[in-house]
Amino acid sequence: MVCCYCGCAGDLRPYGPRGAMVCFSCAMSSPEREAQTAQNFSAQLAACGDVAAIDGSHVGPYPAEHHKGTAHEH
Ligand SMILES: [Zn+2]
Repeated sequence: MVCCYCGCAGDLRPYGPRGAMVCFSCAMSSPEREAQTAQNFSAQLAACGDVAAIDGSHVGPYPAEHHKGTAHEH
């Protein structure tokens, strides 16, 4: 897994175009990318529902109750 912009394999987050992996410096390299990063982050966070967890790993926000195997229909 590498950054979709610069190809590095550093601190990646899935907030690039259509969820592509980007490194922090590329994600913040321009106002447009920074806005896109913020937009993708909030969209993925919202998709997690009311209870979301961010643990600092590269997977981004995910449903906190996911590991319990409970499926909530929306
Ligand atoms: Zn990069």
